[in-house]
Amino acid sequence: MKYIIYLSLLFLACQEPVPSVKISEASTDNKTKPDFAMVIHGGAGTILKKNMTPEKDTAYRKALNDALEIGHRILSDGGTSTDAVIQTIAFMEDSPLFNSGKGAVFTHDGKNSLDASIMNGKDLNAGAIGGVSNVKNPIKGAYAVMEESEHVFLSGKGAEEFCKEQSLDIVDPKYFFTQKRWDSLQRILAKEASTGDIDTENPDYKYGTVGAIALDKQGNIVAGTSTGGMTNKRYDRIGDSPVIGAGTYANNKTCGVSCTGHGEFFIRYAVAHDVSAMMEYAGKSLEEAATEVIHKKLMPAGGSGGLVALDYNGNVSMTFNTAGMYRGYTNKNETYVAIYKNE
Ligand code: ASP
Repeated sequence: MKYIIYLSLLFLACQEPVPSVKISEASTDNKTKPDFAMVIHGGAGTILKKNMTPEKDTAYRKALNDALEIGHRILSDGGTSTDAVIQTIAFMEDSPLFNSGKGAVFTHDGKNSLDASIMNGKDLNAGAIGGVSNVKNPIKGAYAVMEESEHVFLSGKGAEEFCKEQSLDIVDPKYFFTQKRWDSLQRILAKEASTGDIDTENPDYKYGTVGAIALDKQGNIVAGTSTGGMTNKRYDRIGDSPVIGAGTYANNKTCGVSCTGHGEFFIRYAVAHDVSAMMEYAGKSLEEAATEVIHKKLMPAGGSGGLVALDYNGNVSMTFNTAGMYRGYTNKNETYVAIYKNE
């Protein structure tokens, strides 16, 4: 009897989780399982071709391609998904194009307040920092919290102190100033003063949060997200990006997820974890789970945004309910980059 139970347990342990299938053009369906993969986003929102200059379009595509190349090189050389996610996100944080690190949006008080998180799908370890204004690469701060502290989430001055103790690059808060983001804040403040209108769909509010998920040759999934949050945020508001289960989640049994959009909705709907939970408990494919959360749950509730996700087979989902999302993926077979809907 004991022998039969043992054999049954062995059989169950050897079963692969439910496979994922392709149900929209926004996903990949890897018939031949790639031995590594990475997917990234650079924010979702009212990104319309008609509002884009050819130069801007090219600059974003180049930045996305360069970011993917970093991850591709690390993963194809047999590096870890942790390293790929950190290096790729750090590169995007250093680019003024994205709302993270150097290109972060401004708070109501004219400051930059940064949030980031990382999660390891192998052991469900995670780290996050929120509300920091002098950490050059917040994703590295999040990683340090995961690896070097017994905590998951540090915020404000304490998080800054911890990052300094960990010898991370600390910069003058002025480092994060960009004219473009400053002008966005000024337009919003002027509009609020004249109309009292807070239209968070206005492109000045956000857009440009970055995220990455990697699957390495060892089969480990790591997800990370980094942001400056939403323009004109007040009262030390922290959004979904550093909240594990909301903006970021990873589990080797299912998938890794990084979100972007109106953070309050992503927190309330525990979006990143919900995608993983639907795969784990309801046997949904990655694309089915992502579509259900972004289009059937968030959309009717008024939550705009999107996510990128990667499952244990290297299948990719890049799902959003906005006009566009800076996005791309890479694996050993191909690299793909897109901005608008229907491309
Ligand atoms: N989710 C981010 C936040 O709410 C903003 C964004 O992704 O654009 O802070």
